[in-house]
Amino acid sequence: MDFQLTPEQLELRDSVRRYARDKLPAIAENIEKTGEPPSQELIREFAGMGFLGVNIPEEFGGLGLGNLEALIVVEEVAKISAAVAFPIFESCVGPVRAIERFGSDDLRNDVVPAVCRGDAVVAIAMSEPNAGSALTDLTTRGVIGDGQCVINGSKRWCSGGGHADGYLVYTRLSDEPGAKGIGAVYVEKGTPGLSFGEQESLMGFRGVPSSDIYFDNVAVPEKNVVLPAGGFKKLMTAFDLERCGNATMALAQASGALEDAIDYVQERKQFGKPIVDFQAVQLKLAEMQMQVEAARLLIYRAASNAQQGMPSMLDSSVAKCFANEIARSVTGTAVQLLGGYGYSKEYPMERRMRDGWGWGIAGGSIDIQKINIASALVGRRFNQRAG
Ligand SMILES: Cc1cc2nc3c(=O)[nH]c(=O)nc-3n(C[C@H](O)[C@H](O)[C@H](O)COP(=O)(O)OP(=O)(O)OC[C@H]3O[C@@H](n4cnc5c(N)ncnc54)[C@H](O)[C@@H]3O)c2cc1C
Repeated sequence: MDFQLTPEQLELRDSVRRYARDKLPAIAENIEKTGEPPSQELIREFAGMGFLGVNIPEEFGGLGLGNLEALIVVEEVAKISAAVAFPIFESCVGPVRAIERFGSDDLRNDVVPAVCRGDAVVAIAMSEPNAGSALTDLTTRGVIGDGQCVINGSKRWCSGGGHADGYLVYTRLSDEPGAKGIGAVYVEKGTPGLSFGEQESLMGFRGVPSSDIYFDNVAVPEKNVVLPAGGFKKLMTAFDLERCGNATMALAQASGALEDAIDYVQERKQFGKPIVDFQAVQLKLAEMQMQVEAARLLIYRAASNAQQGMPSMLDSSVAKCFANEIARSVTGTAVQLLGGYGYSKEYPMERRMRDGWGWGIAGGSIDIQKINIASALVGRRFNQRAG
């Protein structure tokens, strides 16, 4: 067991950190003010540095590194802003990986290199008005025939909704009930019959567009079927990596908050001395550090155990659950340590607290992760529907 990053991983982390600290804070501030997602220019810049395909095979235009390297890049960028890091999250650990793993050769060759080049952003559309935690209750239906798949239904809370160039849509593809009937289809923006609701106004996540999606006889070529009915289990294995990405986005809100708080408490003086000289402040810093380090180790463990494959449900749920919880407490403590400046919108701290909260709902709530963990421990699924 080796708890050290390799020299190459350290070099990657440090170079991304330098770039992020130097270039991204002003961009993050502007995104927060306008609510506009990262510009095409920035996405192309990320592509030029390989950020959009860190762990995607070179044959598809990626760097061909591992999931751990991708998560290192996600953390360093998301420390500055979750919205700025969002396109990297979507491409390296989100729906693009499911397309790369399970899609037809035609589809993979169409979509994945375009994402790595910064020419396309792909979002994931799973949740529906009546299917959130109970995802297998989803009712959006695709019918395959005559070389195409025709989709009807609606989706809710899609991050990237109305803005992304393509959507990985979880949909029923057979009449079998529950998970057995579910597969996934890739739908491009602009396909006739596809429309979007108004942009949601969320507590945080400014700069990550979010909307409902409506499908009215949306016809896509059959090659866009990423997984047929029965593919839900496979989709969930790819989602185990997304969970590690979600955990990393949450962790980054905490680790970014801690770094800023460490600087602040050494500069800010009250009662004639830096506030770090007060023991109550020291204890808070120590608690924040323990939480951040533990979350990072759980995430690294999940990624390392998986090698180049997908993390296990147990490892990824433990990492997500813990990171989601500590993100809320660490960012809250950091706001407190910065006093009035922590609460002011002029500084990124209150944004981290608002963004940090959302990751414990997105990608499956904290309590649903706990149910996953308990299921893995006893080796059986618990029936949530039984009375
Ligand atoms: C910021 C953000 C981004 C998102 N991005 C996307 C996206 O890109 N694509 C997408 O498809 N969806 C997205 N979502 C939706 C997200 O996946 C759902 O919100 C989440 O799965 C919870 O579903 P729900 O909101 O319907 O809550 P519900 O399922 O109604 O849950 C409400 C509460 O009840 C609890 N609960 C429910 N069932 C149980 C149970 N069996 N046992 C114990 N407690 C239970 C939950 O823990 C939760 O606290 C996003 C959500 C947020 C907040």
